[in-house]
Amino acid sequence: MSGVPAKKSLGQNFLADRRYLAPILDAAEVGSSDAVLEIGPGKGVLTEALAKRAGCLVAVELDDRLIEPLRQQFAGRPHVHIVHGDILEQAPGRLVADACGKGREIGDWRLEISHSPTSNLQSPISYKVVANLPYYITSAVLRHLLEAAQPPTSAVVMVQWEVAQRICAAPGDMSLLAVSVQFYAEPRIVQCVPAAAFSPRPKVDSAILHLRVRPQPAVAMDPARFFAVVRAGFSQKRKQIHNSLAAGLQLDKATVQQWLANAGIDPARRAETLSLDEWGVLCRACPATDAK
Ligand code: SAM
Repeated sequence: MSGVPAKKSLGQNFLADRRYLAPILDAAEVGSSDAVLEIGPGKGVLTEALAKRAGCLVAVELDDRLIEPLRQQFAGRPHVHIVHGDILEQAPGRLVADACGKGREIGDWRLEISHSPTSNLQSPISYKVVANLPYYITSAVLRHLLEAAQPPTSAVVMVQWEVAQRICAAPGDMSLLAVSVQFYAEPRIVQCVPAAAFSPRPKVDSAILHLRVRPQPAVAMDPARFFAVVRAGFSQKRKQIHNSLAAGLQLDKATVQQWLANAGIDPARRAETLSLDEWGVLCRACPATDAK
């Protein structure tokens, strides 16, 4: 596999410095009773480390050149499943359930799935995500995982340093990305990984990011309604919130002023200063979405 040249278009910056494997695995707390989904195994460096610890491992790789070598590398290890495909086109929970859930018992591994007579999607499954994510689809993958019918219980992902900082931001520096991730999960940066740890070397440093997925979203509300308001709030950069809400939701100024007064939010504030709780209060008072 070493002879396969990296494809920039697939975000292929392979982890070359193995010293960073331990902090990833430690943060993920992978053990023999865990089912793990890896996105983009690449040349299998992280996959190899995960295979030694996980009870069941599903690794989804888009690049067809890497599939056969990966399958050879893990031949004879039945708890490792190499899947060829695009993670964004697969339901992650279903993927893990299909690969790991067919009554297999390997080591300590036993996946509990109760099959619902009405909908297979309702079958609860517990799994962790561990991945060195392709940068070009970081936000899309996080959204895909967190909004999935069966999201993971946690995710430890390598992302660009600046993206990790944006995701972990506090009120004052919030963005649509930060609100979107923090709605579903508690993020924390584990550590920085310098660009020199990868081959080919990317332009920027990375971070190991830990997401503890919340059992329930941070704001008890229909996510579609919540994000309709949040998206409107962030629709106009650096504008005061009364202006962005009026423009984003096509409401007249008087209605928005009254709405903000009802929610106790100063109309002169900017979207990046609001906490998740404040977005919740605002959404519940929203005249446009009728959100309760
Ligand atoms: N895990 C390996 C490592 O740490 O060295 C490779 C990480 S590399 C940053 C990202 C990997 O994701 C590549 O192998 C790439 O081919 C794969 N990839 C890119 N887009 C993908 C997609 N949509 N679905 C699944 N894998 C993808």
